[in-house]
Amino acid sequence: MDKLKKRILQDGKCFEGGILKVDSFINHQMDPTLMSDIGKEFAERFAAVKPNKIMTIEASGIAPAIMTGYFMKLPVVFAKKKSPKTMQNALTTTVRSFTKNREYEVVISKDFLTPDDRILFIDDFLAYGNAAVGIIDLIEQAGAQLVGMGFVIEKEFQEGRKLLESKGAEIESLAIIENLENGKIQLK
Ligand code: 5GP
Repeated sequence: MDKLKKRILQDGKCFEGGILKVDSFINHQMDPTLMSDIGKEFAERFAAVKPNKIMTIEASGIAPAIMTGYFMKLPVVFAKKKSPKTMQNALTTTVRSFTKNREYEVVISKDFLTPDDRILFIDDFLAYGNAAVGIIDLIEQAGAQLVGMGFVIEKEFQEGRKLLESKGAEIESLAIIENLENGKIQLK
C-alpha cells in the first residue's frame, strides 16, 4: 500500500531493539483518512475468505480493525488486556509483550467469540507474532475458526510470519519492513 509506505518513510522513527515508532499517525495521534484507506484495503484483500467477524487486541489494533469492519459491514470485537469484574464466561490467554518486555493476560467474553465465528484478526504490527499466537489460542478455545490475519506493518526481520504460517493462517501485511538497521527504515 503505497500511501502507507510513503507515510512510514516520511514520519516513522527507528528506536533501539528493532522498534519502529509511528505515533504521529497510528499509535498515539491517528490519521483517520489513512486509517480508512487501510480498512478498505484489508476489506478487499480478505473479501474471499468470508469472515463474519473482525477481532483485534486493545489498544492499537482497534482503529484499523474498526475501519475494516466498517467496509466489510461486520462486527468488531477486541481482546482486553484487563479482565473487567463484570465479564462472565471469559476465555483467557497469556501474551509476551515485545515492546514492554513482560507478560500479560488477555481476555475475551465467550458471548462475542463463539463456535460459529469465522474470524479475521487485524493488528497494527506483526513483530515476533506473540500477540497473534495468543489470539489464535483464544479462537481455538472458543471453537471458532481463524480465516485470516491482517497487519498494518510487518517487521519481516523478527520472523513472526513464519510462526503464524506454521499455524496455517493466511497473512496479509500492508507494509513490510526488511530491517531497521543503523536507524534506517528499509521497506520491501
Ligand atoms: P508481536 O507479538 O508480534 O511480537 O508484537 C505485536 C505487538 O507489539 C503489536 O500489537 C504492537 O502493539 C507491538 N509492537 C511490536 N513491534 C512494534 C514496533 O516496532 N512499534 C510499535 N509501535 N509497536 C510494536
